[in-house]
Amino acid sequence: MIPRSTRPAELLFPRESPFRMASRIDAALADPELSRFVPATTRLKDDTRVAALAVAFGPRVYEARRLAGQIRRATLAALDHHLARFITAARSHGIEVHIAADAAEARALVLAIAARRGARRAVKAKSMVTEEIQLLDALLGAGIDTLETDLGELVLQLDDDAPSHLVTPMIHKDRVAARRALARLDPASAPAEPDPEALTAHARQALRRSFAQADLGITGANFLCAETGEIVLCTNEGNGRLSSLVGHTHIAVTGIEKVVPTLDHLALLLELLARSATGQPLTVYTSFVSAPTPGREVHLVLVDNGRSGVLADETFRDALGCIRCGACLNTCPVYRQIGGHAYGSVWPGPIGAVLTPLMRGPETTPDLPWASTLCGACHEACPVDIDLPALLVAHRARDHTHAGLLSRARSRLVRFMLAGRLRWRVASALARAIASRHLGPTRAWDHGPRRLPAPGPRFSSRWKKLTRRRARDA
Ligand code: SF4
Repeated sequence: MIPRSTRPAELLFPRESPFRMASRIDAALADPELSRFVPATTRLKDDTRVAALAVAFGPRVYEARRLAGQIRRATLAALDHHLARFITAARSHGIEVHIAADAAEARALVLAIAARRGARRAVKAKSMVTEEIQLLDALLGAGIDTLETDLGELVLQLDDDAPSHLVTPMIHKDRVAARRALARLDPASAPAEPDPEALTAHARQALRRSFAQADLGITGANFLCAETGEIVLCTNEGNGRLSSLVGHTHIAVTGIEKVVPTLDHLALLLELLARSATGQPLTVYTSFVSAPTPGREVHLVLVDNGRSGVLADETFRDALGCIRCGACLNTCPVYRQIGGHAYGSVWPGPIGAVLTPLMRGPETTPDLPWASTLCGACHEACPVDIDLPALLVAHRARDHTHAGLLSRARSRLVRFMLAGRLRWRVASALARAIASRHLGPTRAWDHGPRRLPAPGPRFSSRWKKLTRRRARDA
């Protein structure tokens, strides 16, 4: 069994309350490995996404996103109906469906099924919900020898580390670090060089042994189809499919929001998910679990854990439409610089900054909605058209911890500066002088590899031209 410390939980579930990002941001910016790998990889993924969507949809990409957003919003608006349809259909095929109100109940349900089935060894596919409920620690704590089967997650398990990206969990590490970690599986046969093929073959040997010995397979679920009652798994390594087939029991764990009404809706979401996540037309393995095979049991644990509260809040409901593609992380100038651990949450990046305060309570993570420049890139990238900047602004509007005297005075000053031409000119000249000398608050901006561009001198004339054009076109 691979020993596991408490470090991953501390990375994703910080003990400090309320959680402050500032110290983690400093640590992230000072980390040479992170600043080498994360910006380059995210940029590449972002470019690949744009190219793949252009090939598939051409100029109709915005139409596809709008349609996908409508599907997600309409489904969430009638989630109880679609969920009930899914549960009825799944149960009619022999899938046992359980509902967990919170993380503790979800863990207890999985452990109870494992105990009843006498499970001693488990394999687990990558799943953000299992991270959210800290399932790996619970399984290991209950004496069930469990191995992560996604290559990146396996490296993290061996390193006592935590994922820092929704799709690429070890984005903050390179192949040298992966070799170091994977060597622990079997030092005698570990490759001497960090060659990706040799490393994969080495991991494969250990994983095949675990798949063969496992009596329990645990997966997440990317979608649940209400029309057919099927659990849909998307992986590129085939480990999700294998985990769902080994041993005598398969337990899938996922959030209640993963339901889609029909196969037609699912088809569009699958096309957008793969292209937005990795630039592929479709994930290599898209598996549909529809019923248990003879002698086996299939269980689905549907996790609420705060989702009903988000669903009931019309301002933020859209956030539950997220299909976890990671595109908003890859395009976000903040995530690119600080990586995922600085967010102190299972969900990093823009969607994490929106979801975490909703799921854990805004008072526990007051900084997160402010960890954004509101540049709009995340909305532009989102395949299901979630207006993340608007949701961040809505969080800020509800935030009382930042509504102190100083903050109000700053807002009044900005309003005063923007109210007259001369005032604006004086203010922007002053801002340019400060920014070009890296003084005052701009010093914090210039900390690390980024540079704050000086405000342009012609903002007001361009603004005027723009408003004139808009008035003419209206
Ligand atoms: S919010 Fe949109 S872009 Fe971000 S992970 Fe979710 S679906 Fe992808």
